[in-house]
Amino acid sequence: MKSSELQKSLKNVISGDVFCDKEILNYYSVDASGYQIIPKIIVIPKNEQDVINTVKIAKKYKTSITPRGAGTGLVGNSLNKGIIIDLKKFDEIKIGKNYVKVGSGVNKGILDNVLKKGQRFFPPSPSVGPYCSTGGMIGNNSSGSRSLKYGSVIDNIKKITFVDGNGKKVSLPYNKKIGLKILKIAKKIQLNKFPKVTKNSSGYRLDVIKSVIDTQKIIAGSEGSLGIVLSAELKIIPIPKKRILFVIGYKSEIEAARDCKQIVTTSPSALEFVDKTIMKNISHNFNKKINCLLFVEYDFKITRTQKRLKKIITGVITNTIKNESEIQRWWKFRDSALYYSSKSIKNKTLHVIEDATVPVEHLSELFLAINKINQKFHAKSIAYGHAGNGNIHIRLILDKKKTKSIKLIADEYFDIVIKMGGTITGEHGDGLARSEYVRKQYGPANYKIFKELKKMFDPSNILNPGKVISHKSTIIKNLSSV
Ligand SMILES: Cc1cc2nc3c(=O)[nH]c(=O)nc-3n(C[C@H](O)[C@H](O)[C@H](O)COP(=O)(O)OP(=O)(O)OC[C@H]3O[C@@H](n4cnc5c(N)ncnc54)[C@H](O)[C@@H]3O)c2cc1C
Repeated sequence: MKSSELQKSLKNVISGDVFCDKEILNYYSVDASGYQIIPKIIVIPKNEQDVINTVKIAKKYKTSITPRGAGTGLVGNSLNKGIIIDLKKFDEIKIGKNYVKVGSGVNKGILDNVLKKGQRFFPPSPSVGPYCSTGGMIGNNSSGSRSLKYGSVIDNIKKITFVDGNGKKVSLPYNKKIGLKILKIAKKIQLNKFPKVTKNSSGYRLDVIKSVIDTQKIIAGSEGSLGIVLSAELKIIPIPKKRILFVIGYKSEIEAARDCKQIVTTSPSALEFVDKTIMKNISHNFNKKINCLLFVEYDFKITRTQKRLKKIITGVITNTIKNESEIQRWWKFRDSALYYSSKSIKNKTLHVIEDATVPVEHLSELFLAINKINQKFHAKSIAYGHAGNGNIHIRLILDKKKTKSIKLIADEYFDIVIKMGGTITGEHGDGLARSEYVRKQYGPANYKIFKELKKMFDPSNILNPGKVISHKSTIIKNLSSV
């Protein structure tokens, strides 16, 4: 079927925009990952009926339909061949007592500003800052520095409305009939095969569905493969009145990682790690013996907790920051870690193995494993991340053309992570880089149940096919030559 035929059919029923221009297709062919896939058609719907009609047409013409937020995903989650549907016009924000109702195209920065006026916030805060969309955050089950205390999207979502692969509008948890079907599927999973971690964006999160009132959570982290989110009700909470930030220096990442296990027991609001490469970008004169840092923040019972912190750490406190604008300045250093790592690497490197998450007690072993892998494959890496969750970002420094090595490194690294009870992705999702490992992550029995769930919502496999449920290896394929 020709794109022009599909375009004509869409234009007949869509009141929003339909594009086939080469420049626009090129724009939507990339995201913040290193992958590229040229789509056939871009739809920018104006209303719910447009979304429903687009799904019905995709089904009729047997072509894929993939939702897109701001395109800041790091593993090609929003890239695909068929129709890309950009929900940017779904930008309504309605504030309730302890929740906010958002359209899926709401920009995170705009949401933060609106909520701040009432001294409230939506806790998951990816380091990409204001640039992502709420639909994309739900799609990836995103999180950020404060997720240690306040959880990821999945822990902060009250209600969700989406269009499934049949073009049917569904609201969870209110649609009990569908909720009961999800619950029935959830009851079949082998829970012991799920990772034992505090954040997880791999596979379908059937592990958190304990009753019908949890069923909205199934869409978090589903990467647009179960439904196209129209709107959601998200939990909001008061902005803490006071906070304090400690910057702690360590000689080695192993020492820092060992301390994390103790520090989490003091209930910090954030516990983050940066290595020497990132440290070099921080405008502060650190002692030469310090090779990495932990950022530890408290926003509650500050006096009591800081006393406990000082007793348990083996590192050196280099800075105690109480002034709010100074705290924000220091967090900018941490939030710019991806930028600092990119500018220090000449060749663009890949976000492939980069957000695995292990139980925090295994964090030091994870660093040891990375060092071994680097030696074996003559690679180097830059590390930073959400240490309190056992979630470390690894930026591989390896010749991008060595694609075989990239796959071998991923195979070996993910084996180690899974053996530690960890997840192959703590926040960025499976996308093109990790979907082929979902079966290994959860085992064949759970994978079969994931397929059953996918079939229930998307019997024709048109919603972002190849993501989460995948029959092909895509980790190397579609790497852009940029
Ligand atoms: C510099 C940088 C720092 C980052 N830091 C973090 C971090 O700290 N924590 C973190 O979690 N992530 C981080 N990310 C990754 C990324 O920014 C987040 O995952 C973000 O939430 C993705 O949002 P988006 O709107 O860009 O989504 P997109 O990339 O557009 O889409 C992401 C996924 O969601 C799906 N999706 C989009 N809209 C919908 C919808 N309406 N319905 C259903 N599915 C939908 C897409 O199909 C895709 O599978 C970072 C990225 C960058 C570039």
